[in-house]
Amino acid sequence: MADAPLVYNMKQILNYINGALQPPESGRFLDNVEPATGQIYSLCPDSDHLDLEAAIKYAQAAQQSWTNTATEKRARILSQIADLIDQNADRLAAAETVDNGKPITFSKAVDIYRAAANIRFFAHAITQFSSESHSMENTAINYTLRDPIGLVGCISPWNFPLYLFTWKIAPALAAGNTVIAKPSELTPMTAYLFSELCIQAGLPAGVLNIIHGRGTTIGAAITTHPAIKAISFTGGSQTGTVIKKATAEQHKKLSLELGGKNPTLVFADCDFNHTVQEVARSAFANQEQICLCGSRIYIEQSIYDHFVNALVDEVEKLNVNDPLLPETHFGALVSEAHMNKVLFYIKLAQEEGGQILTGGHQVHLNGRCRNGFFVEPTLISGLTNQCRTNQEEIFGPVATVQSFKNEEEALTLANDSMFGLACSIWSQDVNRCHRLAKQVEAGIVWVNCWLLRDLRTPFGGTKASGLGREGGQEALRFFTEPKNICIRYG
Ligand code: NAP
Repeated sequence: MADAPLVYNMKQILNYINGALQPPESGRFLDNVEPATGQIYSLCPDSDHLDLEAAIKYAQAAQQSWTNTATEKRARILSQIADLIDQNADRLAAAETVDNGKPITFSKAVDIYRAAANIRFFAHAITQFSSESHSMENTAINYTLRDPIGLVGCISPWNFPLYLFTWKIAPALAAGNTVIAKPSELTPMTAYLFSELCIQAGLPAGVLNIIHGRGTTIGAAITTHPAIKAISFTGGSQTGTVIKKATAEQHKKLSLELGGKNPTLVFADCDFNHTVQEVARSAFANQEQICLCGSRIYIEQSIYDHFVNALVDEVEKLNVNDPLLPETHFGALVSEAHMNKVLFYIKLAQEEGGQILTGGHQVHLNGRCRNGFFVEPTLISGLTNQCRTNQEEIFGPVATVQSFKNEEEALTLANDSMFGLACSIWSQDVNRCHRLAKQVEAGIVWVNCWLLRDLRTPFGGTKASGLGREGGQEALRFFTEPKNICIRYG
C-alpha cells in the first residue's frame, strides 16, 4: 500500500496576542511530534508569564469595547469564523490528523464539522439569551442582570483539539468576555490555524488571545493569575484537583470537565445487531480517547457469550493504519508516553486476572508509520469491578466486558466508580430505561444510542468527572455573572 503524503514540513507555531501572530518572548519552542510517524514536524511556543502578562494587558484594553459591541455584531463575527472553518475544512482536518493521529475521516466528520457548529451555535444562542424576572405579587419585582464576567481563561485537552477549544471559546466570546486560551501542547496546530482565521474574520485585537505551551507552566499561570476571573477547563480529574486547589483562595469561578470511566449496560432484550455495532463504536471511537467512551461493558448473563463473540468480531473489523488514509478506522495514540501508559494497563489487566479477547499489542506498521504510536483495540474479560483496570481511567483502546444477572446488579456495577460522566443503556424495555436512566450516577445518559449530541443540552459529569455544566444556556450562564436587582413597588 502506498504511503499517504506528508502534509506539513517543519513549521513554527505562533502565539496569537493582540490580534497578531508572534513568537514567545523567551524565543523558546517545544518539539511537536506527529503521532503516526513519531517524527518532530513542527515547533510549539514554550510560553511563560511574560507572554501571559502581555496578553492580559491587551485583553483588558479590549474588554470594554467588546462588551459594548452589539450582540448582533459579536454574533456576525463569530458566524464569519464558523464559515471560514467550513471553507478550510479539508486543510484543518488534515492538520488535526497529522497533529493528533486520529483518522482523517473522523477529523473531518467530527472534529472540524463540530468546531464550526460550536461557534455557529453560540453565535445564534447569544441573540436568544435572556435573563429572569421574579415578581413578588404586589410587593416588589426582581430582575436579574447577566453581564459578562470580564477576562476568562479557557484550557482544553488534546483528544478533540479544535472541537473542545471552540466549545469553550465560542460561548465566552459570545457572552462578551475577553479570553486567554491555551490548547494542549501535544496538539497545538489547529488552534494556531484557528487564530489565522480569527484575524481573517476581523475579530478585534485583544479579544481572544491564544498562548501555547506547557500545562504546568503557562496553564498553571493562567489559572492562578488574579486578572483572570473564571476558568473553563477540560482535562484529567487529577489536573482538575490541582486547579481547584490553586484557585481556591481567589474564589475563581470554575467549570471543570474531567475524566470518565463510563458504563455500557446491555440487556438481553436489546436490538442485538445494532447494539453490537454501537457498543463497539462507543468503546473504540477515536482510539477510545473520548471522555464519553464506554470502557466498562456490562452484559446480561443470558446473552453474554453470544454478545461477546459478536463484539469481538466487530472490533476485529477495525482497520488500524496510517490515519491519513481514508480507509483507516483506527489511527495512532496521541504520544509515545500515552501509548506506554495504555500498554502498561494492558499488562496490569493480565496481572489482575484478565483474559485478552482481542488485541493487546502495540501495532508495528510499515512505511512512513513504522515509528508511530499504534495499539490494537483491546477487549478484556474475567476482571472484577474493583480492580484498577476497571476503576482507573485509561483513556486509550482498552475496554472490559462483565456479566450481570439483573437490573439491580447492573445499576450497582455502573455506579461503582469514582467517575460519573456518561452511561449508555441498551434495551427495548422503555420502563426499565427510564428507571435506570434516573438512578445511574452520570451527567449524561444515552438510551439505545451513543454520542448523539444536541448542543442545547447540559454537558458534564458528577463525582470526579467534573464541576458545573457546559452546553447551551449552561455555558452562557457560566460565562456571565448574575446580579439580582429587587425593586419595591412605591
Ligand atoms: P490534562 O493533562 O489534564 O490536560 C488538559 C489541559 O490542561 C492541557 O491543555 C494541559 O496542558 C493543561 N494543564 C496540565 N496541567 C495543568 C495545570 N497544572 N494547570 C493548568 N493547566 C494544565 O488532560 P489531557 O491528558 O490533555 O486530556 C485527557 C483528559 O481529559 C482525560 O482525563 C479525559 O477524560 C479528559 N476529557 C474530559 C472531557 C469532558 O468533557 N469531561 C472531554 C475531553 C477530555 P498540556 O497538554 O500542555 O500539558
